[in-house]
Amino acid sequence: MSARILIVDDIEANRRLLQAKLEAQYHSVLLASSGPQALDMAAEHDPEIILLDVMMPGMDGFEVCRRLKANPATNHIPVVMVTALSDAEDRVRGLDAGAEDFLTKPIDDFLLNSRINTLMRYNAVTSELRKREASGLKGGGGEDEPVDEGDAASRVFLIDDNPRTSARIAGMLRESGHKVMTLLESGSMGDLAKERTDVLLVSLLSTSFDPLKLCAHFKANDVTRPVSILLICDPLERSKAVKGLEIGASDMIMTPIDKLELLARVRTQTRRTRYVEILRERVDRGLELSVIDQLTGLYNRRYMTNQLQQFMQRAVMGKKPLSVMMLDIDHFKHINDTYGHQAGDEVLQEIADRLRQNVRPMDVVCRPGGEEFLVILPETSGELAYAAAERVRRSVASLAFSVLNDTRQVSVTISAGVSSLLGASDTMAELLSRADTALYQAKSGGRNRVESIAA
Ligand code: GH3
Ligand code: MG
Ligand code: MG
Repeated sequence: MSARILIVDDIEANRRLLQAKLEAQYHSVLLASSGPQALDMAAEHDPEIILLDVMMPGMDGFEVCRRLKANPATNHIPVVMVTALSDAEDRVRGLDAGAEDFLTKPIDDFLLNSRINTLMRYNAVTSELRKREASGLKGGGGEDEPVDEGDAASRVFLIDDNPRTSARIAGMLRESGHKVMTLLESGSMGDLAKERTDVLLVSLLSTSFDPLKLCAHFKANDVTRPVSILLICDPLERSKAVKGLEIGASDMIMTPIDKLELLARVRTQTRRTRYVEILRERVDRGLELSVIDQLTGLYNRRYMTNQLQQFMQRAVMGKKPLSVMMLDIDHFKHINDTYGHQAGDEVLQEIADRLRQNVRPMDVVCRPGGEEFLVILPETSGELAYAAAERVRRSVASLAFSVLNDTRQVSVTISAGVSSLLGASDTMAELLSRADTALYQAKSGGRNRVESIAA
């Protein structure tokens, strides 16, 4: 996976060295030699990862990091602080400034590559969610409140079969206010499904079970998949850690475990798990509110337009046909007037069901408004679309609708107009207008019928 990485360092030799290492792995590299330049470049080029030197004259790395995280345009970009020596205090300050990770100089190639791969995998999840949020599928209100990562205490499930190290690690976390369940104390993993967990802390030194298989199991399971896995590994068994990261673990910490580093990594992984959860909830809620018609569960006009535009582009590029059918209930006003608005609503719902049952899964069924429906039929010629509309028409007309708790049987018919995409110069407005003309012809031709506009 090749990444676009911004290197920030005031010393040219350092920049060149890192650049060479990264380019050897086919990443593309941007260079900044000062904090202010880094801020400008981050905003302008939207790099996927920033490697940020701590010690710089003027604005130091901590300040740059704080500003990157305070700016909505750049706060999603993972920052890796590059600290001199193994200064534990600098690492903690970096994480306090909002950095996702850190590396120490001299930079170890193995650690550099595994951090980058880990962050790219994380980016893949969050950028997908951010894209979906931004693509007009949000709206409907209320979902723009700032991310609240919840309380600082993490819930950690510790999986280490060595009683001595397990107790020591649990102690470090508990002393700092975190909630820890250990496999040894609880005896089973049953609690995982019940309790929300922020971090699965898995020791690769465990021997009574295969810790890598367990990680794979966590990533395959719906409940545990979003939970960050932090691996504890022996520095002499790096290949195991690499496998764990490939399987989907988020991060690792080497033995002997440094308490500050453990706390910092647990905190970052907790943030990560909660961030992914929050985005996912927002997307679900945003989707619900903004694209689904509440009465029928069909897609609304806004989603219809958005999808139709995309399907038209794909059809032109792939030289495939595309058709739409526009449907309208006949004399619906009369149904409302005779049986009441509630019965009218039930008819709309039943029409939606019959529509869904009579089109293919790839077709997009929408209710753009009122008693009008529209189905997008990808890869479908006008002729086939006409046949599909005829099938829908018959399914509506052939069986009376049972409404008001089965106390009334209402005969319903629909009219439909079909049109097809004419090529790259055709527009959505024209395509829909032809369908509308065909529908008008069906109405004026006596209703309960389908018309199409030939190309
Ligand atoms: P035509 O065959 O020409 O289409 O006649 P029509 O009566 O179906 O058409 P018209 O456009 O005159 O009336 C549509 C009616 O649909 C009027 C409106 O009150 C009703 N309607 C629109 N949306 C809803 C809804 O959500 N629920 C109910 N119950 N009625 C609705
Ligand atoms: Mg109408
Ligand atoms: Mg009507």
